[in-house]
Formats: sequence, structure tokens, C-alpha cells
Amino acid sequence: MPDPARAEIVVDLAAIRRNVRRLRELTGVAMIAVVKADGYGHGMVEAGRAAREGGAEWLATATIDEALALRAAGDTGRVLCWLAVPGEDYVAPIAAGIDVTAYSVAELDEIAAAVRATGGGRARVQVKLDTGLSRGGAPRSAWREVLEHARAGERDGLWTVTGLWSHFACSDEPEHPANDAQETAFREALALADEIGLRPELRHLANSAAAVLRPSARFDAVRCGIAIYGLDPAPGRTHDLGLTPAMTARARLAMVKDLDAGASVSYGHIWTADHATTVGLVPAGYGDGIPRHASGRDHGAEVGIGGKRRPIRGRVCMDQFVVDLDGDRPATGDEVVLFGAPAAGVPTAQDWAEACGTINYEIVTRIGGRMHRRHV
Ligand code: PLP
Repeated sequence: MPDPARAEIVVDLAAIRRNVRRLRELTGVAMIAVVKADGYGHGMVEAGRAAREGGAEWLATATIDEALALRAAGDTGRVLCWLAVPGEDYVAPIAAGIDVTAYSVAELDEIAAAVRATGGGRARVQVKLDTGLSRGGAPRSAWREVLEHARAGERDGLWTVTGLWSHFACSDEPEHPANDAQETAFREALALADEIGLRPELRHLANSAAAVLRPSARFDAVRCGIAIYGLDPAPGRTHDLGLTPAMTARARLAMVKDLDAGASVSYGHIWTADHATTVGLVPAGYGDGIPRHASGRDHGAEVGIGGKRRPIRGRVCMDQFVVDLDGDRPATGDEVVLFGAPAAGVPTAQDWAEACGTINYEIVTRIGGRMHRRHV
């Protein structure tokens, strides 16, 4: 059992409920709450429940296994998933009433085979169109073929096409010309689908950044991940969105000691004290998902102890790291807040992302490992 006294993640489910409510008010369309990758580290099932309570009509996952895990945990609402591999078993998601996404004729044929194998009712299929991300989705050259195949399967009673969708490449840079180009392409794909006779209940394009920054891209629903967890999807580009970060990562000081001037800290001795100071040992490391990039050759990421921000010094190790207490002497066992909701002396996941040269998504999604996780 992970030891909550050593290091833990506390997830504020009320914050997720409020964030979803706020985003629904802001966008005025249906909410597809993205809970893949264990709810971006917040706990997929718990985050999904909180999102439903906040009004999310849909939950979305990447993999079919994740979607099935939501069902196994008792979620009976609409669920979309979008990442299948060749030879994927579609029988279980179809039987569970999960919306599966198809990118190609080959995938549609696999879904058709699964429908025939079950001899049951129709599958629920959404078609993803690549409008410029050049990742998943039918490429423009295949739009007509895939949409016609999807329409034919619908006519044959194999499935209902419940959605048409695409995904932005640069929505966190609202001025990037790719956004206009992708939205235009998506509208062209919808027009083509209409001409072919496909008129699904849901057309969706926007992730969190587009949902808040690009009203024209909201269509029938928005697929929000990072924003439901209260983190800014486009730091520096948004005004106060009224969202609350749901995750706090905390630990307890394992040791406090004096450090002489000239002493070097942790593996590789990448930081040396230029004056006598005090340091604290925080019992969490990259084995708990703390990025090694948070190491302090100079400053490092910061943690909050007793209302003061303290920099990491030296390398983050597998199980522990050292912070500079600058002559102060907090007690062993005192709380160390790695990051949490904005408050005086408390860094945020965004602060950590900046210190580590990454994005807030990666900070919250990767943290965990052996840490205890508690939902409040
Ligand atoms: N839609 C798709 C296809 C995604 O892969 C993701 C996440 O990466 C999202 C929506 C949610 O994105 P965000 O967390 O930026 O809202």
C-alpha cells in the first residue's frame, strides 16, 4: 500500500464538477469530458463520475480498454473512444454500447465483422477526419470513400454513424493559420458527408483550448480534457477562465539538515552551495513521476513549505530530492506541497511545467507511480 504520509496526490472532485459546469456555461454546447490516461492522472473512474455530476453528456477515452473500464465501474452514459489497432476486438465495446471511432474502410470492415459475429444490434460509430493534424483520422484523399462506406453500413443496418469529428494541431496558439485551415476543412468534410446522406447527431472539433478560444469551432460538442482538471489549456493566451486545478501533490519533509558552503548536492554534484544553508529531503522522485527535468542545476522547480516557495537543488533521484531551505528550519514531517491550486507560497502544475520545459498535461498525467492517491 502506498504510504500517504510519505507522498500523496489529493484530487478535489468538487473542482472537476465545477470546472465542467463552468465550461458548459462558457461554451453552450454538449461536453465530452476526456478522461483517458487515468483521467490525466486524476483517476479515470472518479474523474468521470465527477464530470458526469458536473453535467458532461459524454466521456471520452483513447483506448477501448479504458472505455470498457468505465462501463465496468458502472458508467452507463455515452462513451466515445478513438484509438484502435488492427485486429482490435470490437465485440465487447459494441455490446457495451460504446461509440467507437473509425478512420478507414479497413476499420469499418473490422467493425462490420464484429457486428455480424455478435448477430446483435447496430454498432455506434464515429468517423474521424484528418483536417491537418496528420495524426489519426481519414486523410482528405480518403474522405469520400470512408464516408460513403460509413453511409452504406448505416443503410445495411450495421451501425449508426453517431458523430463526425476531427482534432486541432495548434489550438493553443489561436493566431496560428492552421486553425482556420482546419476549421474550413472540417466544414468541407461535413458538407461532403451531408451530400452523401450522413447526418450524425454530433459534430465536434474543439479540445479545451479551442473550446474556450474559438467559439466558431464548438459545433455540437467540445472535447475538453485539461480544462476539466482546472489547468489552463493555453497559458498566456487565456484570460481568467474561472477554473480550479483539481490536483494537489504533497509529501512530508523526511529530513532537515545544515549544509556547509561549498557542499555539492545529489548525484553528479550539479549544484554547489555558495553559502552555508539548510536543506530538506523530500521523499518522492522520478519513481513517483517527479520529472528529472525538475532538477536544480541552478534553481530547479519549486515546492511550497510553510507558505514559502523553495527551489529544488541538485538532481531529482528515483525516490527523493533535496530543496534549499535557505537557513530556515521547518520540522521533519512538515507538509511539502509540490504543486496545487494557486495560493500564496504554493507552486502550480503550470509552474512545474515551465521549470521542466514541458506542458502542464505531462506534469499531472505522469505524476503518481508509488504515490498514494486520495479523492476528496
Ligand atoms: N480530443 C482528442 C482526440 C485528444 O487526443 C485530446 C487529448 O489529447 C483531447 C480531445 C483533449 O484535449 P485537451 O486536453 O487539450 O482538452
